[in-house]
Amino acid sequence: MTSYLKSMPSRDGYFGDYGGAMLPPPLEPHFKEIREAYDRLSKSAEFLGELRHIRKHFQGRPTPVSYLKNLSHLCGGAQIYAKREDLNHTGAHKLNHCMAEGLLAKFMGKTKLMAETGAGQHGVALATAAAYFGMECEIHMGEIDIAKEAPNVTRMKLLGATVVPVSFGGRSLKEAVDSCFQSYVAQADTALFAIGSVVGPHPFPMMVRNFQHVVGVEARAQFLEMTGELPDMVAACVGGGSNAMGLFSGFIDDDVALYGVEPRGTSSKLGDHAATITFGHDGDIHGFRTLVLTDEAGEPAPVHTIASGLDYPGVGPEHAHLHKTGRVTYTAADDKEALAAFYALSRHEGIIPALESAHAVAFAMREAKGHPGKSILINMSGRGDKDIDYVTETFGFGEGL
Ligand SMILES: *Cc1c(COP(=O)(O)O)cnc(C)c1O
Repeated sequence: MTSYLKSMPSRDGYFGDYGGAMLPPPLEPHFKEIREAYDRLSKSAEFLGELRHIRKHFQGRPTPVSYLKNLSHLCGGAQIYAKREDLNHTGAHKLNHCMAEGLLAKFMGKTKLMAETGAGQHGVALATAAAYFGMECEIHMGEIDIAKEAPNVTRMKLLGATVVPVSFGGRSLKEAVDSCFQSYVAQADTALFAIGSVVGPHPFPMMVRNFQHVVGVEARAQFLEMTGELPDMVAACVGGGSNAMGLFSGFIDDDVALYGVEPRGTSSKLGDHAATITFGHDGDIHGFRTLVLTDEAGEPAPVHTIASGLDYPGVGPEHAHLHKTGRVTYTAADDKEALAAFYALSRHEGIIPALESAHAVAFAMREAKGHPGKSILINMSGRGDKDIDYVTETFGFGEGL
């Protein structure tokens, strides 16, 4: 592990001013148990050996890095490359932390995995892990997302998970987290709450980052092997921030510019976007300190983006820290740019990206022209099969783009 990763977070889970664990008293012993188990297992040859075996023989790692020749040619300027997390089993990077969280639960003697899900990708990945380890699985999902991401709901049920619809508030990701926390309090003796990103109380932001670190380690070695150099710019979309931390963590001690791309939705007005770092303020959400989008009453604000998986009014505390130190530059792409990127990558590269990942593609397409002779590596965090019905029924086939 690099020197940065060893120094962050602090023992009590702080990345500078952000992070920590603000827990209701009944959950404190359970998070202590998770922290101690992770501290022990992250140094255990048996745990790491089994994780390595799973990644290679079940997930299909390493995933490749692809040179996006046609897109690079089309944009003119920088050469664009993609780390292909869309080629993970289940179609997104989330399986990286779900299999590891499932393995952690197994070593802890738990019999059930629980989580919230937005686009359904985390739910599918966790249900997959539960099936693999022979555990029960309970997934909380907002009703709006259930309607929008029907195929993923079907997948979760086929994989044996119980899907709990969340019908209060904005009926999306934030409420799904609240609902899952409530249910978890009653069954924390036998269940593990497998948080779906680098968010939540300590140790989850650190643990999920370290489980995703494999993405950056592989990408760095693969890029070096392909080109003989490191990329000039590395970019990833940021919802909670796990695919971004996975990729960034491979380059954080290098002289490589890192860019997080947030969803600007339909406009910069509160409620129209989910660009937490771009527009948010210091605050607390779901048991940790970070940047938050809040309404006038100081409550987490409603958010919008075309990509359900980016639909969260908070962000991982490490991103809030990396923003403050300036090590990572945060920018945003709106729904229109993401859609244009979705069509362009499909048409010109034969890769249908998840709408989430399309935000990173949009960044590369926007930046390429101004950076001739440079290289941009983006994280293709997931594939877009889940989005094709929604996109084509709402926007057609990208005629005229
Ligand atoms: C969930 C998801 C994201 C957003 O989550 P992060 O924790 O920010 O990575 C991005 N891309 C895909 C494909 C997803 O499923």
